[in-house]
Amino acid sequence: MDCLFCKIAQKELPAEVVFEDDQVVAFKDIHPKAPHHIVIIPRAHFATLNDVPAEDSPILGELLLTAQRLAKKLGVAEDGYRCLMNVNAGAGQTVFHIHLHLLAGRAFSWPPG
Ligand code: 5GP
Ligand code: ZN
Repeated sequence: MDCLFCKIAQKELPAEVVFEDDQVVAFKDIHPKAPHHIVIIPRAHFATLNDVPAEDSPILGELLLTAQRLAKKLGVAEDGYRCLMNVNAGAGQTVFHIHLHLLAGRAFSWPPG
């Protein structure tokens, strides 16, 4: 499959991986939008959140738990961090393999732009 994030997960393309296990891979965003900007993906390919069937819902929890653990490891859990997933182009999704953004290390405004 011609998918950038599948290739990163399979080590066919390089990335600064900060965590991986049998279900998820987390790596530094190539164009960071905050001092800490990590992209967390499932190894399984789903183009968008809309494409995750109910029976695969545990992977969505894994993405969030990975963000929680990385935030603690980075020392930003108490100060605050942002987890977000863009769904489809209208929301800003540019890579069509679902991913959770973990952003931290600066103040964030609300609502997001
Ligand atoms: P989206 O806009 O789809 O929610 O987020 C995609 C993210 O992937 C963007 O923040 C973008 O900077 C990042 N990204 C795109 N291509 C690469 C790449 O080849 N390597 C890494 N590490 N990040 C990438
Ligand atoms: Zn993929």
